[in-house]
Amino acid sequence: MLKNNVPSGPIEDKWKKHVFESKLINPANRKKFSVIVVGTGLGGASAAATLAEAGYKVDAFCLQDTPRRAHSIAAQGGINACKNYKNDGDSTYRFFYDTVKGGDYRAREAGVYRLAELSNKVIDHCVAVGVPFAREYGGLLDNRSFGGTQVERTFYAKGQTGQQLLLGAYQGMMRQVTEKNIRMHSRKEMIDLIVVEGKARGIVVRDLLTGAIESYSADAVVLATGGYANLYYLSTNAKPSNATAIWRAYKRGAGFANPCFTQIHPTCIPIAGSEQSKLTLMSESLRNDGRIWVPKLKNETRLPNEIHEEDRDYFLERCYPNFGNLVPRDVASRAVKKVCDEGYGVGSSGLAVYLDFKDKVASQGNKFLEEKYGNLFQMYEKIVGDNPYHSPMKIYPAIHYTMGGLWVDYNLMSNIPGLFVLGEANFSEHGANRLGANALLQGLVDGYFILPSTLGNYLANTHLHTLQNNKVEFSDSIESNKQKIQKLIKINGNVLADTIHDKLGKLMWNACSMSRNKEKLQFTLNEIPKIKEEFWSHLKIPTDANTLNQELEKALRVSDYIELAELMCRDALAREESCGSHLRDEYQTSNGDPQRNDKDFSHIACWKFTEENKVPERLIEPLEYEYCKPTQRDYR
Ligand SMILES: Cc1cc2nc3c(=O)[nH]c(=O)nc-3n(C[C@H](O)[C@H](O)[C@H](O)COP(=O)(O)OP(=O)(O)OC[C@H]3O[C@@H](n4cnc5c(N)ncnc54)[C@H](O)[C@@H]3O)c2cc1C
Repeated sequence: MLKNNVPSGPIEDKWKKHVFESKLINPANRKKFSVIVVGTGLGGASAAATLAEAGYKVDAFCLQDTPRRAHSIAAQGGINACKNYKNDGDSTYRFFYDTVKGGDYRAREAGVYRLAELSNKVIDHCVAVGVPFAREYGGLLDNRSFGGTQVERTFYAKGQTGQQLLLGAYQGMMRQVTEKNIRMHSRKEMIDLIVVEGKARGIVVRDLLTGAIESYSADAVVLATGGYANLYYLSTNAKPSNATAIWRAYKRGAGFANPCFTQIHPTCIPIAGSEQSKLTLMSESLRNDGRIWVPKLKNETRLPNEIHEEDRDYFLERCYPNFGNLVPRDVASRAVKKVCDEGYGVGSSGLAVYLDFKDKVASQGNKFLEEKYGNLFQMYEKIVGDNPYHSPMKIYPAIHYTMGGLWVDYNLMSNIPGLFVLGEANFSEHGANRLGANALLQGLVDGYFILPSTLGNYLANTHLHTLQNNKVEFSDSIESNKQKIQKLIKINGNVLADTIHDKLGKLMWNACSMSRNKEKLQFTLNEIPKIKEEFWSHLKIPTDANTLNQELEKALRVSDYIELAELMCRDALAREESCGSHLRDEYQTSNGDPQRNDKDFSHIACWKFTEENKVPERLIEPLEYEYCKPTQRDYR
């Protein structure tokens, strides 16, 4: 049974009431408690900094050589908050409503309201720690629009918002490292969660430089390890982003919610060749000033700048006059796919559309664009070799973000007491489709404002024994992980982990991405065991385990992706409806929009691991909509 622990009372008062009713730990006593924080992106760094500042003893872990190389640093476009600086009708309620609707009524109302409510505090905090947000001429912070809204609520720092926000959180964290309240463990990969007497009490890690397998214990464990979009092999995520921490926690009993909800971002640089290992995003913010179009003629041979206005189809503006180029990502991605499938796509593969800045260059000049998006234009030119000030970008949808993740209650605690999950690693507030610029916000709301309160309440209410790392739960895990690594190395086959990962990614892109159907999902569920078999019998890992070995790192992650892919297909198959990014071909409106089935599927699906090679259990948390009455989402 899943208990979401949402407090009673009017939605505006829930969080305040909850904080008031939560037990506190006296500042002088906090140093008696230890917390493990895995991940130093926006979710983890903000949590570690805030907990240590409050007095807790923190051990923080990350994969990179420095915590500030977390994937969050790549975020480009911005972070939402309903300050209503533009006086354009924004409010907490409108933010709440846009987000619930944007997620196609598959998120918890209370959590979304809290995200909106705390958004302004995040901006104030970030300004206070020195984040250099863009400002307008009067000195107020500037805003732009992201998809799925008709107001401007996105705060930004050029096209490098994630970098600036992360530097803010990182500085707070490093201050506490210097104060010795945080022990920072870089280049250590969590490979297991330790559960003692039903509570999360530690982790097992692999030192990526020496290969040593070590364990750490604490009074609570926080996972802020990011999303799993890299399961598809090609995605916009940083290469080290992976699913291992949350997958291993799942196998220790943590529920995995809505694993099939993956976001496809409409504006990415198209795939250029078969050797490519990474895709590059062109931020959604560009849709504020760029216009998306395809030629009206199939097989058009003219260069884009030679195609006259009357020969261009600005298909998003035509189909969605209300939101135009700023429809949500799921809607835009499907529209791009549709025009390309119909034969209007451009570029050598026909799998691209134009994102054109010609009108903005004409009305406001290059300088205007340079100030807002200079680094993105430069990145595009470096990768593609075209200058977007002169000719339109070519873009196509790509895997970008995962709304699914470990199930958490209102306190951000999983169903394993003492295991908290933040940021992209949890499933929380985005429902079946995340609105742009809400991810950075969610990570920071989770880490700066929610966790410090809910974790304190948990520790104050829970009796915990002192643990030694030599307890059997730790030693068993160390031993079984060593055995798994040796087993992988001993295969000594002839196929690299990347090759198998690429194969899995293509399979999943075809069956469980922009559109899904029963036949393709069932086919893929039959194919995945063959990939698993190939992996466990033909894998090649050069060199051994006691050193820096990136092939081993990849192999361990791919072993988890294979299992997670199976869960994603099961989840997509079980959800016999379309909602947000989950478009089942069988369930569409006459316009080709997702056709929800609220009667049978207005719930969060939470999967529980049972036994190796057994079908997991599907639990549900019903969703109730007291404030935002579910309607057919329409951006026309
Ligand atoms: C190109 C791009 C641009 C984006 N732009 C925006 C934007 O403009 N606005 C917006 O709101 N969102 C944006 N997003 C989404 C947003 O960046 C992410 O959702 C968010 O940064 C995730 O933060 P996080 O703290 O949850 O995780 P991450 O930043 O991914 O950090 C994960 C951390 O966990 C660590 N870790 C992972 N696994 C392990 C392990 N097993 N052991 C130890 N450590 C581990 C990593 O080292 C890292 O420190 C963008 C995403 C991409 C890909």
